[in-house]
Amino acid sequence: MGILKNAIETIQIGLEDYKNEDPRRSLSAVRNISAGILLLFKEKLCRLSSPNSDEVLIKMVILPTVNKVTNEVTFLGKGKKTVDVQQIKERFKSLDIKVEWTLFDKVLDLRNNIEHYYTDQSAAVINEVISKSFILIRDFCVEYLEEEPGLLFGEKSWNIFLEADEIYQKEKRICAESLSKVDWTFETLEQGKDGIRCPMCQSDLIIVEYGTKYSPDETISLTCRRCQHGFDFDEIIEECVHEALGTEAFISVKDGGESPYGTCPECIKDTYVYEEGGCLACGYAQKEKQCAICHTYLDLDEAYEGDLCSYHSWSASKDD
Ligand SMILES: [Zn+2]
Ligand SMILES: [Zn+2]
Ligand SMILES: [Zn+2]
Repeated sequence: MGILKNAIETIQIGLEDYKNEDPRRSLSAVRNISAGILLLFKEKLCRLSSPNSDEVLIKMVILPTVNKVTNEVTFLGKGKKTVDVQQIKERFKSLDIKVEWTLFDKVLDLRNNIEHYYTDQSAAVINEVISKSFILIRDFCVEYLEEEPGLLFGEKSWNIFLEADEIYQKEKRICAESLSKVDWTFETLEQGKDGIRCPMCQSDLIIVEYGTKYSPDETISLTCRRCQHGFDFDEIIEECVHEALGTEAFISVKDGGESPYGTCPECIKDTYVYEEGGCLACGYAQKEKQCAICHTYLDLDEAYEGDLCSYHSWSASKDD
């Protein structure tokens, strides 16, 4: 079977799983749809591979070979193994194919979450998966496969996509509006608020129950629109900070720099944001200190513990 045909069928089966009343079919829906998207990506790599190269671009291993007559070097795909997600990303990057990877990574994240922590409630996030996949599939088909997605998938399947996306987007707008009415006090929380999720079912459709201004002493009460679970913002403030600053932290640490936030020594939550000057969860703010002996600036934990850098505090304890 051709890759494109396989991709279409896999996605169609996923959509049928989604429409099924049995919540246990949602895992299968998410699996099929994410697998189908990867197949669409592979179809593009296949189309770009030169003829007689054994579909070089979708092969995990690519080897140069020399033609003994012409001395010409060409690249051939070796073995049966095909590219994984990371390799697809790398090849797309060097081929200048643009995919909204944050959207795709979210779909994979949600799939992994459902696989590992499956509960009946997990079915709740599926509308979000379908909606995000819909955008990815639509854009990719038009832009890079030059196919009309409505024709490719057939009217019935395509309408399921349209409907799911419409429902989700409408719900999401209601939630965004509700969350935007709160004064979040901190820029970080303002930035992360639209990514917060229900601790019970992982849905990102969250509205405010009561509370108009956040402060470490005054929490905001939230409700999940999917499973109706009520919870305090405190419970998910770490995820909110991570949502806002996680990418920046990852890039910064990878380049040998400092993370923009860290663990608060007072409440042990990962909500101490340096730029905001303190912990967003408990309000603890550490004043700047220097080591009493060597005068280097102390980091958060050292300053919290006392007046010595970790080296001098270690040597002091040895002398005792
Ligand atoms: Zn929920
Ligand atoms: Zn704290
Ligand atoms: Zn020192």
